[in-house]
Amino acid sequence: MAEPVVPGREPAVPGRTAPVIELDRVVKVYRTGTFAVAALRGVSLSIGAGEYVAVMGPSGSGKSTLMHILGCLDVPTGGAYRLAGEDVGTMSEAALASVRNRRIGFVFQQFNLLPSLTACRNVELPLAYAGVGRAERRERALAALGRVGLADRVQHRPGELSGGQQQRVAIARALVTDPDLVLADEPTGNLDSASAGDVLDLMGELHRAGRTVVLITHDADVAATAGRTVRLRDGLVADGGLEAASEAVEGVGSR
Ligand code: ADP
Ligand code: MG
Repeated sequence: MAEPVVPGREPAVPGRTAPVIELDRVVKVYRTGTFAVAALRGVSLSIGAGEYVAVMGPSGSGKSTLMHILGCLDVPTGGAYRLAGEDVGTMSEAALASVRNRRIGFVFQQFNLLPSLTACRNVELPLAYAGVGRAERRERALAALGRVGLADRVQHRPGELSGGQQQRVAIARALVTDPDLVLADEPTGNLDSASAGDVLDLMGELHRAGRTVVLITHDADVAATAGRTVRLRDGLVADGGLEAASEAVEGVGSR
């Protein structure tokens, strides 16, 4: 299937955008005490700039682990992850934090809003971390809340909002920094179908505005809203090469 060409970004090959995400046999092993769980066992995946990809798979298949790695919240145990051509494995913690803050917007199933802050303050937070001044922060947060249809709820705290409204605040927080990449982990998992529809509409809007969107879900109807679906099973891309995977797992170091 042809990948969408994003205006203003020059495709390396005509009709194909340069990959923004390149995973090469990525392995993630969690070690707790004497136990080791291989959550990802050699995932190779390439996602072009401006693509909208759904990652599907049953519970425990490694979806959230993959999102943590894509979002630079965690680093692979083996294999390589290049984000916009840069090897994440060689970046310092400060550089990773900067990438997370400036280039990536996150949306989580549990919303992850700070309960003591108003909607506006929650949306301002990533800008505060980025050192944006108070007046500009406020202005941009109000604009982002307007875009998700919450202009009349900016002074409400999360506990005073419905689940669907809280998730829209979280989406406003994800888009306020104008990130290139939006990662959403089961963003509709805790919502009724009407609110889920609103959230998916917003994801589609972010994609049409030229962003790369990766949406994690175990719901086929939700996945169908994306342009492409990648299936995970037992820490592997379901149609990926098994040989490459076993090689990668054997090569796991002690990182
Ligand atoms: P999914 O999101 O698809 O449900 P996860 O990525 O959360 O899957 O989990 C993949 C596997 O890794 C599961 O077996 C899970 O128990 C394990 N796992 C996830 N996070 C951790 C962790 N922090 N420590 C140990 N094991 C973990
Ligand atoms: Mg998960």
